[in-house]
Amino acid sequence: MDFLKELGILPQNPGVSTGAAWLPGGGEIVSFSPVDGQQIATVTATDAPAYEAVILTAAKAFEHWRTVPAPQRGEVVRQIGEALREKKQALGRLVSFEMGKSLQEGLGEVQEMIDICDFAVGLSRQLYGLTMHSERPQHRMYEQWHPLGIVGIISAFNFPVAVWSWNAMLAMVCGNVCVWKPSEKTPLSAVACQHIIAGVLQRNNVPEGVSCLINGGAETGRLLAADERVPLVSATGSTVMGRAVGITVAGRFGRSLLELGGNNAIIVSKNADLDMALIGSVFGAAGTAGQRCTTTRRLIIHEDVYDRFRDKLVHAYGQLRIGNPLDEANHVGPLIDKAAVDTYLRAIAACREQGGRFLVEGGVLEGQGYESGCYVKPCIAEVQPQFPVVQTETFAPILYLMKYSTLEEAVAMQNDVPQGLSSAIMTMDLREAEYFLSAAGSDCGIANVNIGTSGAEIGGAFGGEKETGGGRESGSDAWKAYMRRQTNTINYGTRLPLAQGIQFNL
Ligand code: NAD
Repeated sequence: MDFLKELGILPQNPGVSTGAAWLPGGGEIVSFSPVDGQQIATVTATDAPAYEAVILTAAKAFEHWRTVPAPQRGEVVRQIGEALREKKQALGRLVSFEMGKSLQEGLGEVQEMIDICDFAVGLSRQLYGLTMHSERPQHRMYEQWHPLGIVGIISAFNFPVAVWSWNAMLAMVCGNVCVWKPSEKTPLSAVACQHIIAGVLQRNNVPEGVSCLINGGAETGRLLAADERVPLVSATGSTVMGRAVGITVAGRFGRSLLELGGNNAIIVSKNADLDMALIGSVFGAAGTAGQRCTTTRRLIIHEDVYDRFRDKLVHAYGQLRIGNPLDEANHVGPLIDKAAVDTYLRAIAACREQGGRFLVEGGVLEGQGYESGCYVKPCIAEVQPQFPVVQTETFAPILYLMKYSTLEEAVAMQNDVPQGLSSAIMTMDLREAEYFLSAAGSDCGIANVNIGTSGAEIGGAFGGEKETGGGRESGSDAWKAYMRRQTNTINYGTRLPLAQGIQFNL
């Protein structure tokens, strides 16, 4: 495992950092690989004194960082992108090994980090505000965007590094400082990122505190959520977590950016290219072992093509190779841990109890290559849309099939879940596609035509509605979430006219 050495990962790693410096912490987090079930290394957790030291250092750093011109901040981010390019292979391997996603996806995740760095560099010269015409003579009115301060970033295990970079690179060019709390299930990938950026920060004389790392579980995330010195908490994870964080942050009038669970569906029309629909559905449902927020969990299939498409799916599932994700011949790797396996088994049992009929059976794999106990079979069940299990996100490769007869019915089914992240329609019919994308169509943050639900490009704003939390990250104008808008009116005349023509004579 040379990649660990190349990334500076030791058997025991410090887990609290303010940039280049590492601080003592308390307690220990053990990172196990779901690939083979073995312990990879440990990371020190963040105790209360370490947390306090990080926040004080970050607050001090903000006083300087906000005064650095945005394009110069962009130059630092450009160099972070270069450093990531150099370590892409090693970091991609670690992500794959620690999280259990395929090597291609591990490398793809690092590529996303590089891409968001490039995006953020361009953005550093484009943090535009509008100029408005004042109703008063000899007045000028415009708006400008200022940084917020400390941005807390809480991330989930399934994208151990990319989600941090989506937030941190944008937040940093906007003039904020960041405190990252990664998932306690993937702490080493975060430690590796901190090592990669440390040299860049030092070479550019960036003060300690601009990009910080704290490690720990929910209790460490709660510190960020409750801390009035943290004006924005960007939290990615389950709806349960988002509800807790959102309420706490709102209670202190802070801002939260929530990226929570999805329950994503593809509508397969009778006018679909079924071969294309098949690839989108199988990759979307079984890829990453069903552990993407955008994983396809539901297929809503037109009655005219239902039997044909169902049979194609069942056949395709028979071809899936499950095993070590670092072996490129395998399509499906492990779930993150045994707790996730239990959740998968419980969902299968619940589905059966609620009346679901399995076309492809699930189960846990045993024997050589499956010693971690985390490898499960992707499965398919025929269900009714209102089953409680169908309304819930189970973070595992379970695909639910439903039948429809009219497009209106299909869209209603697709929308009738508490989550609203990603959605898709497979159709060659323009009317169907446009209806799906219209205001009467999909209610999700992401709606695709002839593309599956899974995966997204960094150029678009990423996020979803309803229980998915409403946040938007990454491309488009998502940067505005990391800044505060200020409206400025300047009077360059010799009188003080009031707005709305109000007279106030002394
Ligand atoms: P999780 O909610 O268990 O944990 C996510 C993060 O939140 C971790 O860092 C965890 O320590 C922290 N946390 C947990 N409870 C907390 C609390 N009360 N206060 C503060 N922090 C807390 O999620 P997970 O199992 O790591 O990830 C899977 C979930 O994440 C799925 O629901 C998936 O859909 C979602 N997800 C969403 C997106 C998105 O962009 N919408 C992206 C990735 C993952």
